[in-house]
Amino acid sequence: MAVDNQQHVTVVGAGPVGCVLATLLARRGFDVRAFEKRPDMRRADLAGGRSINLVLTDRGLHALGRIGLRQKVLELTVPVLGRMMHSPDGDLTFQPYGKDDSECNYSVSRDRLNQFLLDAAEDAGVELNFEHELVDADLEAGQLIFETSPAGRTSVSSPVTFGCDGAPSAVRRALVQRPEFEESVDFMNWGYKELVFPAADDGGYAMERTALHIWPRGAHFLMGLANLDGSFTGTLYLPRTGPDSFDELDDPRRLLQFFQTNYADATELLGDFVDEFLSHPTGSLGTVRCAPWHLDDRVLLVGDAAHGIVPFFGQGLNSGFEDCAVLDDLLADDTDLARVFETFFERRKANTDAIADMALENAVEMGEKVADPDFLLKKEVESIIEQQLGKLYRSRYATVMYSRIPYRVAYEAGKKQEAILSELTADLERAEDVDLEQARRLIERELTPLYEKYGVDLEF
Ligand SMILES: Cc1cc2nc3c(=O)[nH]c(=O)nc-3n(C[C@H](O)[C@H](O)[C@H](O)COP(=O)(O)OP(=O)(O)OC[C@H]3O[C@@H](n4cnc5c(N)ncnc54)[C@H](O)[C@@H]3O)c2cc1C
Repeated sequence: MAVDNQQHVTVVGAGPVGCVLATLLARRGFDVRAFEKRPDMRRADLAGGRSINLVLTDRGLHALGRIGLRQKVLELTVPVLGRMMHSPDGDLTFQPYGKDDSECNYSVSRDRLNQFLLDAAEDAGVELNFEHELVDADLEAGQLIFETSPAGRTSVSSPVTFGCDGAPSAVRRALVQRPEFEESVDFMNWGYKELVFPAADDGGYAMERTALHIWPRGAHFLMGLANLDGSFTGTLYLPRTGPDSFDELDDPRRLLQFFQTNYADATELLGDFVDEFLSHPTGSLGTVRCAPWHLDDRVLLVGDAAHGIVPFFGQGLNSGFEDCAVLDDLLADDTDLARVFETFFERRKANTDAIADMALENAVEMGEKVADPDFLLKKEVESIIEQQLGKLYRSRYATVMYSRIPYRVAYEAGKKQEAILSELTADLERAEDVDLEQARRLIERELTPLYEKYGVDLEF
């Protein structure tokens, strides 16, 4: 189907990715309707409540820049310059993220971001329909069935459907019924629960505002990210079953004891968290992989619906926003939707598979390695190499977070970097004694050809 710019298109799911995609499509002249199962979160009676946040980085911000929102969204964020590690004894160690403070992550409230993006979509002319849950679809015939609130059903004709309905996607469920479609959903044994560190008595921040606070404890860990109002959102990642698991910590006494033993300094700051904690459901963590993401020119999955990942690299939403920017580029150059959808899938799949794997690897890094002396020595050496040989070497972390170099290149390079750092630190006691000439030789032999193969410029 060739693009007819008055064409009706449907976006299912008005989460962050659905809103950004709908806005981009409307700006390209499509007639866009979005259907969202939840009520309008901007309504006064629904706004407020617990603040749950996430980090935005360059890939996400770039897509927001496409719709002129980068700066306005940045105003809703708190910059995060590095990790503050809390040892079991309460000692603090800070590890900066980037080569300088310009390389940082931005913490933003999910709800505030989504509300802001709903406004942007509406301003761009998108028709928003709330309390419409997709429950069935005949994708061949272009018919979508929604349950509406109060109890009702409506059938909507949709020649082109974008599935932006998150990891449990109903659009994907409809695609899966086709024989050529493959899908896997792998859940970790870890779950997560969010909790709030209230603002200090004077309304300020009770911990360093511009750090991601992390309490690495091996089999589980706690982290905290600042909100604009002085509070922090904490997230506890813990096994679902077994010793020290969500299953076991099911009564107030055991839970408090667990926190006092493992997270003593955090427990002091959390106030009365126990009842609220126990009454909230435990979140699941999983990786969604599927192929293809499209049905000729009629359906395309975007964001978590196509590639839900675990949160340990902070890239789920960033990769979904990057999807939107890539699709927008393709639509600028080609009017054939079937070809655009196919190219989009081919271009994105290897990259989203790579970030899915890196996010799983980072679970180990955040739980255990950030407190491991060998790992810390490698990180210090890496930081020296970046400062001294920055044109030749950027860390995997920086490449993922502060550049738009394809994830698959960051992943492949990361494996070579790990081998280089192991060789450089094999007999090293102090990072400052690293042999920079040996480092240069190894980098030029192992890494530079990879970057040349992909035409990648490390000066970002
Ligand atoms: C604990 C945790 C921390 C995270 N931290 C980060 C981070 O720091 N940085 C980052 O980039 N990512 C992070 N993520 C990932 C991020 O939350 C997701 O990648 C992102 O929300 C995906 O956006 P989306 O719009 O594709 O899907 P969603 O945010 O899931 O939105 C989907 C929308 O579709 C609606 N919907 C669902 N089903 C239907 C239906 N049947 N009919 C109609 N509407 C429907 C939903 O109500 C929702 O509004 C984190 C995830 C978790 C769990």
